[in-house]
Amino acid sequence: MNLNVVLLGPPGAGKGTQTRHIVNKFGLFQLSTGDLIRKEINAGSELGKAIKEVVNSGGLTVDAHINELVRECVKAQAPLQGIVFDGYPRRVAQAEFLDQLLKEIGLKIDLAIRLMIDDNLLVRRVSGRFTCSSCGAMYHEEFNLPLQKDVCDVCGHNTLLRRADDSIEALKLRLALYHKETEPIVDYYQTKGILSSIDGTQPIEKVAEAIERLILSIQQQLKR
Ligand SMILES: [Zn+2]
Repeated sequence: MNLNVVLLGPPGAGKGTQTRHIVNKFGLFQLSTGDLIRKEINAGSELGKAIKEVVNSGGLTVDAHINELVRECVKAQAPLQGIVFDGYPRRVAQAEFLDQLLKEIGLKIDLAIRLMIDDNLLVRRVSGRFTCSSCGAMYHEEFNLPLQKDVCDVCGHNTLLRRADDSIEALKLRLALYHKETEPIVDYYQTKGILSSIDGTQPIEKVAEAIERLILSIQQQLKR
């Protein structure tokens, strides 16, 4: 049963971790625009070159470029296995683009999950976050340490690094941008009747369980 799921929430709310969980549990394809961009640049395509030029000049990636990457990926993966969208859409215009795109292939967003968590807690969470540069697994000094100090639980490498954009000031900018540009998407999906909110301050596994229950109940509804 294919489902298309959007995970919404401010930076640091645990979207990456929960996305991985959904992928493992339900076999959905993870669409991360960051991954798509890296892949396209590495492939050296015309689009990849255009994106690289923008990125190298310090600019923000262009909506049209991102949408093009999303289009290719959605058309390939959504009919096959369903997609969980991580970090996309970021603006209402992108949400509308995505709806149109799915509609063209007879599909839709079945569920939008919002992880709710307030800014103060996020600052604490994100300021202690670090990732494995080999496999992308995420950890936290306070909430989620690896079992063995400095060694990744997932891949076993000692390549745990703090992300450059994890400074508090950078986070505050990202939060402001989230509230201004991305949060209106919550209303957009609410109006469509597909939004569910989850308390993102719960432990990771509790959030994961709540997400599982939501997805299972949507699957049940679709089977009827
Ligand atoms: Zn690792």
